Amino acid sequence: MTKQDIERADRRETILIDGAAVAASLHSELRSAVENLVERGLTPGLAVVLVGNDPASSVYVRNKIRRSVEAGLRSFHHELPSTTSETDLLALIDRLNSADDVDGILVQLPLPSHIDAQKVTSAIDPAKDVDGFHPMNVGKLSLGGEALIPCTPLGCMLLIKGVRSQLAGLNAVIVGRSNIVGKPLAQLLLRENCTVTIAHSRTADLPSVCRRADILVAAAGQPELISGDWVKPGAIVIDVGINRVQREGRQILVGDVAFESARAVAGAITPVPGGVGPMTIACLLRNTIEAACRRHGAASPLRTL
Ligand code: NDP
Repeated sequence: MTKQDIERADRRETILIDGAAVAASLHSELRSAVENLVERGLTPGLAVVLVGNDPASSVYVRNKIRRSVEAGLRSFHHELPSTTSETDLLALIDRLNSADDVDGILVQLPLPSHIDAQKVTSAIDPAKDVDGFHPMNVGKLSLGGEALIPCTPLGCMLLIKGVRSQLAGLNAVIVGRSNIVGKPLAQLLLRENCTVTIAHSRTADLPSVCRRADILVAAAGQPELISGDWVKPGAIVIDVGINRVQREGRQILVGDVAFESARAVAGAITPVPGGVGPMTIACLLRNTIEAACRRHGAASPLRTL
């Protein structure tokens, strides 16, 4: 970081983007939306499928179920042993696709290695694909159609737009090109008329690519990869990374951004934890409500993105 950058940072306040607070307000908006739909005779339903007993996945699934019940959704929970065959899982998905009271289907990833996750994702009815991973939704998103949008990128967009509503003309750099974060987020930022760069592990001179970003999104899964001197002064920095590291004899969570040094330069920044993470479940519930409205031809009570 140059002396000039530090002086600039000292002159203004960096906005700390409180994802937990934004998610809490989204949850309360979603509760009202569900109430409104229930009054109109429609209770959206979400089915969550967990295969095996991966501890992290079990925690995620528990939280998703708890939040969907709090929002007033109908919640269906299917816990299957890790020995479940691909055929049996596909048969369950078939039943959920046909169930009229199920509007959203979420199969928690990762799946055991003997099951082809892509095959399972593609078996979900695209109209119920609340993770937005089905090829039909991926295609619709890139064509600019009415897609179900993957939850984490959707959460990132809500946080970015909470800081700045007009993004046209801004340079956005996303570090990470995964199908679940980097690529769909690039589509969403393009929709907002940003000039989008997707960086990855083979990108040449990543620091200078990042320094061009008015919006910098880190989704690489590399602890504190991005330091303050990679950040353009005043940039909006969104840290998607969740990394468990050992510090001073205990395990802590850090993002892909070196928070303190980046905060000194950024205009706005998400912390880890408490930034993007809490938005993901809220966006899952949002997608379920959206899917229910579309499936039943009901007007959506949700604000458009
Ligand atoms: P993936 O491992 O699927 O993708 C990581 C991407 O980062 C790849 O495109 C990879 O490049 C790129 N990358 C890795 N190392 C570097 C590097 N040194 N420099 C530049 N690019 C690099 O990860 P995900 O997209 O699934 O997740 C990313 C992070 O976000 C993880 O920490 C994950 O835990 C977190 N996450 C958080 C969520 C939330 O709710 N907050 C939800 C989903 C993910 P290449 O393609 O060349 O290999």
